[in-house]
Amino acid sequence: MGGTEENYVKEAFDTNWIAPLGNNVNEFESQIKSYTGIGSACALSSGTAGIHIALDLLGVGQDDIVFCSSLTFIASANPILYLGAKPVFIDSDLESWNMSPLALERAFEVYKEKGQLPKAVVIVNLYGQSARMDELMTICDKYGVAVVEDAAESLGSKYNGKMSGTFGKLGIFSFNGNKIITTSGGGMIVSEDEELIKKALKKATQSRDQAVHYQHSEVGYNYRLSNISAGIGRGQMEVLDKRVDQKRAIFDRYVEGLGYIEGIEFMPEMEDTLHNRWLSTLTIDSSKLNVTVNDIVEHLAEFNIEARPVWKPMHMQPLFEDCDYYSEENDNARYLFENGLCLPSDTKMTEDEQDFVIDKIKELIL
Ligand SMILES: *Cc1c(COP(=O)(O)O)cnc(C)c1O
Repeated sequence: MGGTEENYVKEAFDTNWIAPLGNNVNEFESQIKSYTGIGSACALSSGTAGIHIALDLLGVGQDDIVFCSSLTFIASANPILYLGAKPVFIDSDLESWNMSPLALERAFEVYKEKGQLPKAVVIVNLYGQSARMDELMTICDKYGVAVVEDAAESLGSKYNGKMSGTFGKLGIFSFNGNKIITTSGGGMIVSEDEELIKKALKKATQSRDQAVHYQHSEVGYNYRLSNISAGIGRGQMEVLDKRVDQKRAIFDRYVEGLGYIEGIEFMPEMEDTLHNRWLSTLTIDSSKLNVTVNDIVEHLAEFNIEARPVWKPMHMQPLFEDCDYYSEENDNARYLFENGLCLPSDTKMTEDEQDFVIDKIKELIL
């Protein structure tokens, strides 16, 4: 927490606005709008809810195709299943770790040929790095397919000077406990299209029609953020830039401590982007270092240090066994999973603690 969150939560108590309505919700939405420069925003109970509503608004339904980044957390893809649609997974490129324009184009060619263009494309900005939005949007525009930008991990990042999350037809942010800022649980759906966000708000509040009585003409959800949680969000927005600086400093310190070692390669930061470095991630070359990612994770765990492999790609998940997958020449998502490591990146970590992590890694590999 940054320090002021409790004041806003107290305000909710003092004014007795405990419901998913109230000043904190409105203010939190305004903050996200002014911070990212987006036209409209609606606060939700989670990022997953945001993706669900976004796909619903784009008309995704039973047996429709939705393209989605393979290298991601499962929340990017689960809402495709909620709607009865079929995900088709797309590989990453090795520089951005995000959706490969090459693989996306290949998938489009095949599905156009089949006469089965996707209803939407979910593009993820992994670990705080923006995907190649210019190239990806050009391809999606060419085929006339709308983009949902999953910016759950990339709040505060930029691509060509523009804030991450503002490129797709709809974008979503997450304020889950592990994200760069948190409301304990929460999310936001954003768009330049004010009408779409009005529809999102309606969907998130059980799709109630305008009437004195309770009338409903379409399916809805109970997905609105509470005014208490939004109070936490208001305080967190005040420290977001500080958090990005801290995360970037943590990353730089890891690079200083480990970057010179042959066989270790840190996640790149693409030109003309600002990477919020939500998690410090790297790949290892096992043939040079004589250890695997799991050896490092297990060694660190002995000292109560929590490290993790990179997200396991969706096309390798049992749940999605039967789904189609388009890769580049090589399966990059698989490579990044098999060789990628996420290091402790919490902003509360002291420099001494971080040096301890660096020393324990060196102890194992050098
Ligand atoms: C966390 C996360 C989500 C889901 O956000 P929740 O608020 O936890 O529902 C979606 N996509 C990615 C890439 C995430 O990391």
